[in-house]
Amino acid sequence: MAKLVYRFQEGNKEMKHLLGGKGANLAEMVGLGVRVPPGFTITTEACNAYYTHDGQLFDSLIAEVKEHLQGLEEEMGKVLGSLENPLLVSVRSGAVFSMPGMMDTVLNLGLNDQVVEALAQQQDEKFAFDSYRRFIQMFSDVVMGVEKFHFEQVLSRIKAEKGYPEDKDIPAHELRQIVQEFKVIFLAQTGRTFPQDVEEQLFLAIEAVFRSWNNNRAKVYRRLHQISDSLGTAVNIQAMVFGNRGDESGTGVCFSRNPVDGSRELFGEYLINAQGEDVVAGIRTPKSIANLKEDKPAQYQELLGLVEELERHYQDMQDIEFTIEEGKLYLLQTRNAKRTAKAAVRVAVDLVKEGIIDKQEALLRLSAQEINQLLHPQFRPDSLAGAELLATGLAASPGAASGKIYFTAEEATKAAKQEKVILVREETSPEDIEGMVSAQAILTSRGGMTSHAAVVARGMGKSCVCGCQALQIDETTKTVRVGPHLLHEGDVLSIDGATGKVYLGALETSQDSHDEHFQELMTWADRIRPLKVYVNADNAADAKTGLGFGAEGIGLCRTEHMFFEEERIRTVRQMILAKSSEERSVYLDRLEPFQRDDFYQMFKVMEGRHLTIRLLDPPLHEFLPKEEEQIASLAADLGVSLVALKRQLHSLAEFNPMMGHRGCRLGITYPEIYLMQARAIARAALKARKEGTPVQADIMIPLVGIDKELTYLKNLIQTCLEEEMEQAGLRFDYSIGSMIEIPRACLTADQLATQAAFFSFGTNDLTQMTYGYSRDDASKFLESYLDKQILPQDPFVSLDESGVLELMKLAIEKARSVNPEIAIGICGEHGGDPVSIERCSDLGLDYVSCSPYRVLIARLAAAQSQIKKERQIWLDK
Ligand code: ADP
Ligand code: MG
Ligand code: MG
Repeated sequence: MAKLVYRFQEGNKEMKHLLGGKGANLAEMVGLGVRVPPGFTITTEACNAYYTHDGQLFDSLIAEVKEHLQGLEEEMGKVLGSLENPLLVSVRSGAVFSMPGMMDTVLNLGLNDQVVEALAQQQDEKFAFDSYRRFIQMFSDVVMGVEKFHFEQVLSRIKAEKGYPEDKDIPAHELRQIVQEFKVIFLAQTGRTFPQDVEEQLFLAIEAVFRSWNNNRAKVYRRLHQISDSLGTAVNIQAMVFGNRGDESGTGVCFSRNPVDGSRELFGEYLINAQGEDVVAGIRTPKSIANLKEDKPAQYQELLGLVEELERHYQDMQDIEFTIEEGKLYLLQTRNAKRTAKAAVRVAVDLVKEGIIDKQEALLRLSAQEINQLLHPQFRPDSLAGAELLATGLAASPGAASGKIYFTAEEATKAAKQEKVILVREETSPEDIEGMVSAQAILTSRGGMTSHAAVVARGMGKSCVCGCQALQIDETTKTVRVGPHLLHEGDVLSIDGATGKVYLGALETSQDSHDEHFQELMTWADRIRPLKVYVNADNAADAKTGLGFGAEGIGLCRTEHMFFEEERIRTVRQMILAKSSEERSVYLDRLEPFQRDDFYQMFKVMEGRHLTIRLLDPPLHEFLPKEEEQIASLAADLGVSLVALKRQLHSLAEFNPMMGHRGCRLGITYPEIYLMQARAIARAALKARKEGTPVQADIMIPLVGIDKELTYLKNLIQTCLEEEMEQAGLRFDYSIGSMIEIPRACLTADQLATQAAFFSFGTNDLTQMTYGYSRDDASKFLESYLDKQILPQDPFVSLDESGVLELMKLAIEKARSVNPEIAIGICGEHGGDPVSIERCSDLGLDYVSCSPYRVLIARLAAAQSQIKKERQIWLDK
């Protein structure tokens, strides 16, 4: 079997898959000569092998661990379990991708009733028993599943009874007492005495880390972040250094830049005379790293130097864990830091300016999710002006949200199905993860900027205010008191994670992505990408929003949405139910001015950019009333009997409307409908042109599957447009093209392309018809398909590579072979999906079109796929 254990000296940062992120980075730091306590890493492969051995540690693994333990003992000059010279170690999990708080760590392993006495004699009694009580608590929690609160209760009680303000003020004799109580709790909860055999402790802890890979919260986290379940976790065994060895010791966490806004400053927190978990767990409120400058100037300077060195080495912002033992600084972890989207952008831009990375690399560092975060809401200034400030906490993760408050993750999750909720807790723990996912925002009364709540919320892009000490939360009565206010479960609060402010009642929000660094980054993206980004917009307001986000045109304007307004729908219904084409024309003439005005508004906004208008597409009965009352009122409008109308409605109903009388089939059966739309477009365009506004009208015919459909309709529309222009004595630029959304259209794309000026893949319908899945019913079975891994993903979300994409490829080849000039784009939902955009870019499409709020994502994704393509070409050379 392959090697299962590596000394830190043997690894490096490229070995993440084998050593986990933590182990690989510890090894890298050792290689750089940074002061790191020695240790070794059990590989992720060992974890997977553990699972294939039915969840049992196996002999070869045990032997390899023992051999490395011996090596560590020699290196340290200490021995695990020795009374003369005891070695204590930490057992730390380390997955391939960092999963904050997800996996578990045990510190001070190697202590037992004898070793602790030896340590007390050799070193210091208080330190020895403080370490032991921590070890018992962590071991109980991580290895035996005894919940922390059993132990925390004892600590709190003794602090309160004896008036010790903080953990570190508890004297040695009390710590001895606490250890006794902890052991009693252990016995009561597990039915066995606390293990005294140090080797047994070690192997139990290793197994617990392996098992923690499959605990519920780890699974939830992985699902949320799309991390594969099969990666496994590594385990790091590391000699302890002690931050709880008096006032010249301490422990902390620091970021090389501000993870909230990205500004360049050391950012973090520390505690004097404490061990790591205290800072990370968010149980005690630590001091800001700025204070370390005065507290421990020499160590502060050393830390600053190391942080800069590591940042340059990793070429990215770092999140570093450190411990000071009697004045000596050790680093215990470094990793690329989690950050808000705002910070991600600023850091990427600054790293380019500092010459650490290039622009391409900066662009690749941003994710679609982060762009989504940038679109996060903020409270509107007018709404804020009248708001009542309740309290202020730490601004842990930006975004503004209002919602009803709930005090447990479970209740929040339940309530979130109906309404917007805010999860309010003293502090969060990994068990709360589902509640955090479902909440709009998270509010805690304890914990700092690196507490669990803060880190996880930033990762999710969720609004979070933490350490809001004015809150007195009582979970049992489901209330929170804040000064004179007493709030109950279900009361509404508003939270601004960018300022840390908490307001009473609901506030209105607005969105803003006009951050200067972001704008700069996007100009780099635009220069790199050849793929154009259009927006799907049905009205002038959406068009404006889309342009605001940088869309270069409209790739899809659905005209049916224009029919639904109160004053129009009645005429639309009369038009549909008309008995003859003459009668229908009367109603169409009434609708035409409405359409004309819609198009005119949009031409004005677009100022000559492409406006792609799709002619009427859905089956007509979608416009007809379904409820009795409305049917009666329509009968009255039409002057027909209820029975007669119902009969007519019945005759219009279809068994399979998605494959029925819709799209260009309507244009063929009722040419007057498409003619009205063409006329409205022409008149709107001419009006805009008269005012000097440039116009580019692209008329798109939906659901074409036969070339003759296109011939017929193109001719109809062209004649109409030309007539209108002739009459007006003025021209405007137009083109006529086709949607490609039926498999037959792909297969006969060469026949269509001779007539079409452009193609737009309607990938929603194309996916529907390629799979033969009804888009509206697929939810009934897709879940099972995904669960059973029959489908890798929902094909309506991410383009199907082997089917739909192949059809598109074929269509493009055929089309370009007869009409090299033809413009080809995509306007389905996939146009906003980053992975699909990459595929579109690879296919050589000219543009993607997506909904307004996805335009930014599409611009970035288009640039990223271009960069990847160029890098690949470069690599292939
Ligand atoms: P997490 O992944 O939850 O951050 P870690 O394995 O990093 O867990 O451990 C948490 C903290 O425990 C570390 O930040 C560090 O402060 C402390 N710690 C871990 N190992 C040691 C060690 N060998 N010596 C001193 N402190 C340690
Ligand atoms: Mg942990
Ligand atoms: Mg850590």
